[in-house]
Amino acid sequence: MDKKMHKAVLFLDRDGIIVIEDQIDTFERIIYIPGVFGALSRIRKEGSFHFAMVSNQDGVGTPSFPQEDFDKPQERILATLQGEGITFDDLHIDFSLPSDNCPGRKPGIGMLDKYRSGEYDLANSVVIGDRQTDVRLAYNLGCKAIWFVPPSQKDELEDDLKDTCIFVSDNWNAIASFLLDETKTKLRTSEVIRNTRETEISLTVNLDGTGEGSVHTHIPFFDHMLDQVLRHSGFDIKLHAQGDLVVDEHHTVEDVALSLGQAVREALGEKRGISRYGFELLTMDDVLAEVALDFSGRPSLLWDVSFSREYVGTFPTEMVQHFFKSFSDASQCNLALKVSEGNVHHQVEALFKAFSRALKKAVHKYPHSDALPSTKGVL
Ligand SMILES: [Mg+2]
Repeated sequence: MDKKMHKAVLFLDRDGIIVIEDQIDTFERIIYIPGVFGALSRIRKEGSFHFAMVSNQDGVGTPSFPQEDFDKPQERILATLQGEGITFDDLHIDFSLPSDNCPGRKPGIGMLDKYRSGEYDLANSVVIGDRQTDVRLAYNLGCKAIWFVPPSQKDELEDDLKDTCIFVSDNWNAIASFLLDETKTKLRTSEVIRNTRETEISLTVNLDGTGEGSVHTHIPFFDHMLDQVLRHSGFDIKLHAQGDLVVDEHHTVEDVALSLGQAVREALGEKRGISRYGFELLTMDDVLAEVALDFSGRPSLLWDVSFSREYVGTFPTEMVQHFFKSFSDASQCNLALKVSEGNVHHQVEALFKAFSRALKKAVHKYPHSDALPSTKGVL
């Protein structure tokens, strides 16, 4: 099935984002959060999310919170929302107590198996909730979160949740605008198809991947180096290259580097919110490699490397510089590489590893930031 047909899900907490946080067991206790009707009805109408309510309701069904005292206000809330066009495709309410350690209780995902079957677009799904456990739920599901608290509290978010949380706000209007602006949640991916008389290349890159994919260039040592890029950049890369290897490796190496550079440049888009600079100092056995990289928009290569042999196996070492020069040209970055003398295989491999880790740092996107890391206003 085409991924585009998969629906992204909006997982909505109830207490703290739709109605105020309370044990809502009477009609009098239903107090709506300002702006919730307009915003959710806009998101329902203009977005294409599957709407799922996910709520912990502690101890419903016990003497202190009888089931019908929960049900009646809940029905009223849903009916009022429905009157504004806000309907839910699914309701997932957990009635356990924290001490029950129930797997369905947020941030547990025990109630949410159906979304993990591959039929939903979890990568573009978003949890909205007012607690860190809501952000943790998103983390556990592999989707993103909007933390519904005043932006001044954003530094209180636990460190490992910072990449999951894409927006911090307790303003429903701002949240609706954020969610409906697809450029913010869009994955940074690109595809390059490059067919010439010398090579045929197909390449997909996802900058926010997990280092999955495959590379196939029919040049074993080059594949080994590109595997380092895959692993150490964290990009998902699918690369297939068929070149005129009966001539030599030159065209294949150059065109793969140009395609990779182009793919990274296109996936970066306007470069808003990115780190821009990346650097890495990396040792491998007898050698020390240093790489610094800047997505400045201006290509340049600083090459402080000397190899004592012309070949690693059957791979010409002169192609290593050519790879990095071509990448720098196509991605429009400054790239500086240096490696100490030593075993040539180690020199080349350390350079590729350091390059990949510098790349990962430079493309890192700060989820709360829309800033362009330049005083010029353009990169
Ligand atoms: Mg809540």
